[in-house]
Amino acid sequence: MPELPEVEALAHHLREHAVGRTVARVDVASLSVLKTASPPWTALHGRPVTGASRYGKYLDLDADGLHLVTHLARAGWLRWADTMSATPPKPGKGPLALRVHLGPPGQGPGFDLTEAGTKKGLAVWIVEDPAQIEQIATLGPDALDLTRDEFGALLGARTERLKTILTSQKVIAGIGNAYSDEIMHVAKLSPYATPARLPGESVDRLYEATRTVLTDAVARSVGQDAARLKGEKRSGLRVHARTGLPCPVCGDTVREVAFHDKSFQYCPTCQTGGKPLADRRMSRLLK
Ligand SMILES: [Zn+2]
Repeated sequence: MPELPEVEALAHHLREHAVGRTVARVDVASLSVLKTASPPWTALHGRPVTGASRYGKYLDLDADGLHLVTHLARAGWLRWADTMSATPPKPGKGPLALRVHLGPPGQGPGFDLTEAGTKKGLAVWIVEDPAQIEQIATLGPDALDLTRDEFGALLGARTERLKTILTSQKVIAGIGNAYSDEIMHVAKLSPYATPARLPGESVDRLYEATRTVLTDAVARSVGQDAARLKGEKRSGLRVHARTGLPCPVCGDTVREVAFHDKSFQYCPTCQTGGKPLADRRMSRLLK
């Protein structure tokens, strides 16, 4: 799933390549991705692209005051093409959800919003103000905008697990499953730690780790072709999605906690005093 660094890189790509062009046509291949009906997508036709930005993990293309906002969800992606095919996509066929032509179809560039797999979560809104989207209006402060004191104040009020809080978009916007694993590993903190009970020095480490992990990932991602961003993300990970492999810091085996549809990873030596965390699925298998 694209998180803050990848969405930032996509926004950067659009600022470099889409701003200054005109939305010639929008093809909708999957009506179910559209979460707004009015204004219709055809209202984008003929509008110049004036900006691209990011709200947490939401990508915003500004077409002169009308915004095409996208949440890529777990398996969604943006694919840029220097020459976009003019043939209208067949509805319901394949991963293509929505196509934006930024020049004469068949000659000009553009991008596709695609989604792999059967579990669909890709969402697109067309709005005059991104704050009209409830998910954006209720976002917490952006993970890269927080000062140490603001970060400490947010955590100090929370008694849920650290993993839950770091990935809760209403508390801190932009961090998902992968980068939260990386941040807690760098900070040497357990995913099950209670934020409100963390001593000041742990909050210092967590704050620094959050900034370092995200800014390093932004630096690696910005300027990469959209097609290569996923590989870039994977190559920079130390524990996430590395179950059974050695921890690059201490050599211990990276472990995972699995839920019904996702899992997270951590290093026991670096993060939990050597103790494996309870994993419901494992205990069920062992019964
Ligand atoms: Zn380790």
